[in-house]
Amino acid sequence: MKNFIFGLFFGLTVAFVHAAPKHVHGEARLEISLDREQLVVALESPLDSLLGFEHAPRNAAERQALQVMAAKLKQASQIFVPSAAAQCVSTGVELDSPVLGGKAEPGGHNDLDARYTWRCAKPEALRDIATGLFAEFPKLRRIAVEFAGPQGQRAGRLDAASPRFSW
Ligand SMILES: [Zn+2]
Repeated sequence: MKNFIFGLFFGLTVAFVHAAPKHVHGEARLEISLDREQLVVALESPLDSLLGFEHAPRNAAERQALQVMAAKLKQASQIFVPSAAAQCVSTGVELDSPVLGGKAEPGGHNDLDARYTWRCAKPEALRDIATGLFAEFPKLRRIAVEFAGPQGQRAGRLDAASPRFSW
């Protein structure tokens, strides 16, 4: 009985860890929320998946790579494509990372957070969002998605073969 309880506890712990990966290279997390006309997509990714390194840039080539990454991510229409019928218009992209501010901890792991917002004229027609992240950033393998909207909550996973999340 004691072994059974230990096994059960261990199993639950492992399941929990797998359900909520914090910083795994090649993986990112996406939170999609729809509130009336406002669509918000929040991306959290290890910098390694987008940039190939996670330290503050040390030379001209790394500074250039950082700028290229930021410029790609700011092209909202390339990175996320909401259902055309919903008539969503991008209202902003915000990028946040210790590396962008030159404050990366030496030897540490660092993330990039990005927040995309749209205003959708017909939010009831919003049924899916496709992402160009896999095409732009080949080191990114998987994205865990959580969705919250009028239809309730959903979760799913995206990869290069299925880059569209539907609800
Ligand atoms: Zn890392």
